[in-house]
Amino acid sequence: ERGGDEGGGTRIMVYVRLRPMSKKEKEAGARSCVKIDNKRDVYLTEMALETDYLRLKRLRGRHFAFDAAFPDNTSQQEVYQTSAAELVEGVLDGRNASVFCYGATGAGKTHTMLGTVQQPGVMVLALKDLFTKLKQRSPEGEHVVRLSYLEVYNESVRDLLSPGRPLVLREDARQGTIAAGLTQYQAFSADEVMTLLHKGNTNRQTEPTRANETSSRSHAILQVVVEYSVHQDFGKATRLGKLSLIDLAGSERALATDQRTLRSVEGANINRSLLALSSCINALVEGKKHIPFRNSKLTQLLKDSLGGACSTAMIANVSPSNGSFGETQNTLHWADRAKEI
Ligand code: ADP
Ligand code: MG
Repeated sequence: ERGGDEGGGTRIMVYVRLRPMSKKEKEAGARSCVKIDNKRDVYLTEMALETDYLRLKRLRGRHFAFDAAFPDNTSQQEVYQTSAAELVEGVLDGRNASVFCYGATGAGKTHTMLGTVQQPGVMVLALKDLFTKLKQRSPEGEHVVRLSYLEVYNESVRDLLSPGRPLVLREDARQGTIAAGLTQYQAFSADEVMTLLHKGNTNRQTEPTRANETSSRSHAILQVVVEYSVHQDFGKATRLGKLSLIDLAGSERALATDQRTLRSVEGANINRSLLALSSCINALVEGKKHIPFRNSKLTQLLKDSLGGACSTAMIANVSPSNGSFGETQNTLHWADRAKEI
């Protein structure tokens, strides 16, 4: 049911995931301001309007429909199945795919992408599924799975599997943009990967001045490259598929200053990569020929993983709390826009 591969274009599939109300929010007397209906309709409600869906439908900016919307009791497995399972299949066939989590800090991006040992997220479930599917495929050729886990923080790229100096990006004819010296970890099972990812996650940059804002400004990117090779009469045939799973930085700052230029954004220490991603999405929505991938490290890294022949899924994470109304509204608008690609 994806938008067809003719001309190499596939549209972005856009999902919304609502997280449960936290204990802290409950204790503070927060009310829920998001309702999900029909597994695809999202309503942003305020005060007296809460149950009057029909009225909300007529209010601009209060009703949205997505490819799917996940209520707060949706399991990690269901989120994975709906948003990413099909993409993993494609990667095994040599296609590129990416899944992004977008949203404000605290909205549930890392929970969705990485999750916990008890409730593993998309990154882990995708690798599990990938290894299961590899075993089911005919054994005539050989598959090699390589992982890299990196971070873009303040426009520098760092290796999360082997932290050290910032990495330099360069272009590779076969693999696209690569970070020179990045660890390529050859993986043999999904189990070893969970530990690896959690360890990597602890290497994400924390904001020195605000300890509890851990990694809210860093983008974490897991790239999984599946290389298939088979010996044939005329030599070796190979095919390469790449899956990128991205836990984006918190969107709150970028949204607050969406109208500013990148220059003032830098001055204000706003996330350049997140803005550049929005610009690329806007350019893709408007059908522009030139997509400004070169404007940031994140978009440079992802230029073969966004739009074009790449299958892309966007999961917009939102909090239910009325205290986050503004952020939720911004996130839903952003996701609504991405839907048009
Ligand atoms: P973000 O990465 O967007 O800043 P987190 O993923 O860290 O947000 O989520 C914030 C908090 O909410 C965490 O304590 C997380 O465990 C919890 N949380 C997020 N989504 C869910 C969910 N779907 N179910 C249960 N807890 C969740
Ligand atoms: Mg996070």
